[in-house]
Amino acid sequence: MKKILIATKNVGKLKEIKAAFAELNAEILSLTDFENLPDAVEDGMTFEENARIKAKFFNKLTGIACLADDSGLEVDALNGAPGVKSARFAGYHADDGTNNVHLLDELKKIGVTESPADYRCSLIFIDTDGSEISADGIINGTIKITPRGNGGFGYDPYFYVSDSKTMAELTPAEKDEISHRGEALRKILPKLKDLF
Ligand code: IMP
Repeated sequence: MKKILIATKNVGKLKEIKAAFAELNAEILSLTDFENLPDAVEDGMTFEENARIKAKFFNKLTGIACLADDSGLEVDALNGAPGVKSARFAGYHADDGTNNVHLLDELKKIGVTESPADYRCSLIFIDTDGSEISADGIINGTIKITPRGNGGFGYDPYFYVSDSKTMAELTPAEKDEISHRGEALRKILPKLKDLF
């Protein structure tokens, strides 16, 4: 059976991607299945550039077909931040908790309690022969300083998909239906099915 390495250690992302790929005839691996792999240097200016950097890097290191997701939050009131820095908004050792505190601090600094925002996702798949398949997705919403819900991951408790509901209040299936990652995965899946 052909293998796909999902180039992430992010448990939330991995869960969503694995669920979408359940119907593929492939063994799904992630970076947590390997010991001592170095980190890719994500120095691209866009989600797409960073996804390509990760997919090519781990494909080269392991020889396995590789899918990378680069994604993040863009807040209008913060001029698009955190953007490609979403995972490390609060610094090198950031996690979801410290990133969310930092997001609230940045909004507080400019006296904003809510702002239009979006999540974007770029997927890049690099096959064993080096060929590439890509897809992307976006969801528009509102960042508000009052969190709601325990689902999802990352900034989801602060990302309102409607007036009173956050991404963290959706079931995994509901999130998949409307999310940036869900859209990108639905676009790339038929292309991957041709290969697997
Ligand atoms: P990456 O691993 O460099 O692509 O960074 C992804 C980061 O963007 C995550 O660590 C989260 O902070 C944020 N992010 C991406 N997708 C989502 C999502 O679906 N919900 C919440 N936060 C997300």
